[in-house]
Amino acid sequence: MGKSTGFLEYERVEEPAISPLKRINNFNEFHIHLSKEERAKQGARCMDCGVPFCQSGMTIKGMTSGCPLNNLIPEWNDLVYQENYEMAYKRLHKTSNFPEFTCRVCPGLCEKACTCSLNGDAVTTKANEMAIIEYAYEHGLADAKPPKQRTGKTVAVVGSGPAGLAVADQLNRRGHSVTVYERNDNVGGLLRYGIPNMKLEKQIIDRKIHVMEQEGVSFIVNANVGADIKASELTAKYDAVVLCCGASEPRDIDGAGRKDAKGIYFAVDFLTSTTKCLWNNNMTLVDGQYISAKDKDVIIIGGGDTGNDCVGTAIRHGCKSVTQLEMMPKAPDERAESNPWPQWPLVCKTDYGQEEAIAKFGHDPRLYTTTVKEFKTDKSGNLKSVVLVALQSQVDKKTGRKLMVPVEGTEKEVKCQLCLIAAGFLGAEKYVVDAFKVKVDGRTNVASKEGGFATSTAKVFAAGDMHTGQSLVVKAIRNGRDCAKEVDEYLMGYTNL
Ligand SMILES: Cc1cc2nc3c(=O)[nH]c(=O)nc-3n(C[C@H](O)[C@H](O)[C@H](O)COP(=O)(O)OP(=O)(O)OC[C@H]3O[C@@H](n4cnc5c(N)ncnc54)[C@H](O)[C@@H]3O)c2cc1C
Ligand code: SF4
Ligand code: SF4
Repeated sequence: MGKSTGFLEYERVEEPAISPLKRINNFNEFHIHLSKEERAKQGARCMDCGVPFCQSGMTIKGMTSGCPLNNLIPEWNDLVYQENYEMAYKRLHKTSNFPEFTCRVCPGLCEKACTCSLNGDAVTTKANEMAIIEYAYEHGLADAKPPKQRTGKTVAVVGSGPAGLAVADQLNRRGHSVTVYERNDNVGGLLRYGIPNMKLEKQIIDRKIHVMEQEGVSFIVNANVGADIKASELTAKYDAVVLCCGASEPRDIDGAGRKDAKGIYFAVDFLTSTTKCLWNNNMTLVDGQYISAKDKDVIIIGGGDTGNDCVGTAIRHGCKSVTQLEMMPKAPDERAESNPWPQWPLVCKTDYGQEEAIAKFGHDPRLYTTTVKEFKTDKSGNLKSVVLVALQSQVDKKTGRKLMVPVEGTEKEVKCQLCLIAAGFLGAEKYVVDAFKVKVDGRTNVASKEGGFATSTAKVFAAGDMHTGQSLVVKAIRNGRDCAKEVDEYLMGYTNL
């Protein structure tokens, strides 16, 4: 149980971050790891709670509390305290295929539910996870372990995001022969082209893909299934097909001038262009190869995490100013009484990009209860300004739902030469759905029986954001693992996954 007096003796110590004004000079990850001794003290703070909320992954009021993978957190926190990293890795690997991703990009649902956070500071579980997996790579523990026997069954996975990779990893481990089809030029889904380098350097993905290849998984890139490759080709060739194509249909916004103005992009296109450019040019930006925010006044529509990634990226480009618009009012700084532990805390968090904006421009980039009403252009059609309007909450008399509606007379024109839309995603893309003739639900996610993964088309399954709607990396991995179990049962008549 860590050290019996650990949480009394030791304070929570977070990994120090390189200061905002320094780190914006490059696109590297920016946390500095603690020494093994310091890390052991952080492991010592875990009290092996009788009811470990940290690993529960339960849903309270529609939000997840605790680790969705049910990682064996108290066990490996104790092993970190004992500096027994080999055993810690074995226990971590039991429930998690990709700790190298989650320890970097997961919002740490475990820590929000940690008992120590009830009246103090949570155990640093996420950073402990990173220490374990990085030790494992350094010491050969995470090397390839191909399955001893093959079943003779074949599976195609369409899409190589965290869900597709989890399906592939699980089914390959079981002995099935798995081929992953990816329409992009590189694998990883939003891990690769979405989440910026600052949160996840891309060689971390390649390191794992290399291990998976050695274990027998095949990857085919630049393979757009449903467009260049026929769906019927895959269903004829493989014993099962799993669709993990993400929820990549971006939500657009209305507003006069939206269709014609040059200089408005979806957030993922903006972020992807930067990542590709950096990857192709030895981590430097080359003019003309990416959507540039340099010397521009940037407006980002969307106050969430994707919007924050755009803030951090625009600042690294050298933007003149950056403003992030959020439709909703600012969340409280502390938990409200109606939002007690262990619920996910609905509080205002200042993320890395916003911290950087504060350091560079002297103020928080976020404007709450505000959206864009109109886009204005110069004579050449280039965006030159946007008209902002304040929003207020109103109850729709017909449906009883709360809506945010514009307040007339609050319009304000501000300069803007680059506008990024980070307003969420609508669901599965139609051409893949049509190609496989799978049914979708009211939210355009691929439908299945409650709790299942089999679609309306024989031998075709679906997992990840394409099935659940836009979510989190850790949930996509969990969903992929659960789907793999169902596919295994379908192929073998029973499952031991
Ligand atoms: C900008 C951004 C930042 C985010 N940051 C975080 C974060 O920090 N932490 C977090 O937990 N979550 C984050 N998320 C959410 C998270 O990335 C997703 O929930 C997760 O990646 C979903 O995984 P997935 O495998 O279902 O789909 P995706 O990651 O979307 O992968 C789907 C893959 O399928 C491929 N594909 C689609 N159609 C086809 C086809 N027809 N043929 C072949 N391939 C196809 C796509 O090219 C893509 O590679 C972020 C999302 C965005 C947009
Ligand atoms: S995957 Fe996320 S929730 Fe689970 S232990 Fe790691 S950081 Fe915590
Ligand atoms: S809730 Fe916190 S203290 Fe308790 S077992 Fe989990 S990580 Fe340890």
